[in-house]
Amino acid sequence: MALKTGKEYIDSLRKHNLLIYMFGEKIDNPVDHPMIRPSMNAVALTYDLALDPEHMDLTTAISHVTSKRINRYNHIFQNTEDLVKKVKRQRLLGQKSACCFQRCVGQDALNAVYSTSFEIDQKYDTKYHQRLLKFLEYVQEEDLVTDGALTDTKGNRALSPSQQEDPDMYLRVVERRTDGIVVRGCKAHQTGVVNSHEILVMPTISMEPEDKDYAISFSVPTDTEGIVIIYGRQSCDTRKLEDSDMDVGNSTYGGHEALVVFDNVFVPNERIFLDGETEFVGMLVERFAGHHRPSYACKVGVGDVLIGASALAAEYNGVSKASHIKDKLIEMTHLNETIYSSALACSYEGFPTDSGAYLIDMMLANVCKQNVTRFPYEIARLAEDIAGGIMVTQPSEKDYRSPEIGHYIEKYLRGVSSVPTEYRMRIMRLIENLTLGTGAVGYRTESMHGAGSPQAQISWSLLA
Ligand code: SF4
Ligand code: FE
Repeated sequence: MALKTGKEYIDSLRKHNLLIYMFGEKIDNPVDHPMIRPSMNAVALTYDLALDPEHMDLTTAISHVTSKRINRYNHIFQNTEDLVKKVKRQRLLGQKSACCFQRCVGQDALNAVYSTSFEIDQKYDTKYHQRLLKFLEYVQEEDLVTDGALTDTKGNRALSPSQQEDPDMYLRVVERRTDGIVVRGCKAHQTGVVNSHEILVMPTISMEPEDKDYAISFSVPTDTEGIVIIYGRQSCDTRKLEDSDMDVGNSTYGGHEALVVFDNVFVPNERIFLDGETEFVGMLVERFAGHHRPSYACKVGVGDVLIGASALAAEYNGVSKASHIKDKLIEMTHLNETIYSSALACSYEGFPTDSGAYLIDMMLANVCKQNVTRFPYEIARLAEDIAGGIMVTQPSEKDYRSPEIGHYIEKYLRGVSSVPTEYRMRIMRLIENLTLGTGAVGYRTESMHGAGSPQAQISWSLLA
């Protein structure tokens, strides 16, 4: 099995026995849950596009481990072309899904652990890289989704992991056995974890020798005993339970985040990729964050959708020829392409690490992420400006379909006479979804804090 179809991928998740909670209740069938399924569809798209001859160049690669064709999400970057193709693939998927498609964290985590484990082995003659290679081969052969888990809940931010009042605020080793370790802790903001087969854990900040038990990286299946997933809320999320395709805005696709508790989880030795080498933690974190920053070319793809939706809204409102509308659309495009430019630039300037795997130019990647923390907000502001207030005040689809009052909405919410009222309502809901609803999780706040909050890139740039 080298490349699965989207359907085969979704079927594979039916065999997963996750412990997942939402609204205080255990979810027995996440695959068919109306709030979860759109996020699964988005990941399934990463499978289907890998089998689409039109996109295979961007979505698949030849594995340097097995020499077989694999999904690029499970590929280790072998040259700058691989880095550039990642950025282009991210934009493509953003355009097609208009949401967070989740699989990128895993690729960035695999690459960061790959190059770091190689350098640890060089220094200490450990076996981490060999283990990682074996794991990588398994993930590539089975075409699995790996969730990268970095962010601990952190407790008091002024204190290091080992100084915390509650020692579990950063994930740590609580027991050592001959065949492995037992870990306890919690990873926050876990993108797409319900849709992932494996979870690849990394530490979240640089560490000192006294933080040894917190310096740990490993991977386990997401349904390992002791892993508890608590599904994160999103603005307007319960609209997905209302059976209204129109009101959701983007009913096919979506992303999700969750809190993942590790309640005494056993990790076998062969799945441990770093254990106690505190001086390599900073390198691992920096490489993961560095790779993930240009991954935010996903926002460029989603930005394309938002710019297109804004242009359509202007047309439906009858103002597409107004010069200020054109200026705003041009400004949105300029901002969007500026993000793309920096994502491409850091990739073209990539270089090989000791392992042979390529890394992006860190300064340019930080510039890319700084752009991402700002520009989607301005693009969203301009989209709201162009759309008009009706994007947040229009009645529900049920009112629109009501035999008693629907005709009022049909009559009074029409813009230009050549466009059906329903089209105008749908485009408003899409803009609402991307700027304020479930889609905004990926497009706005994720842009701010994903791959490190703004200060993380500024601090690095000042230190460099
Ligand atoms: Fe991938 Fe973008 Fe989602 Fe991050 S926010 S997981 S880069 S799609
Ligand atoms: Fe992210």
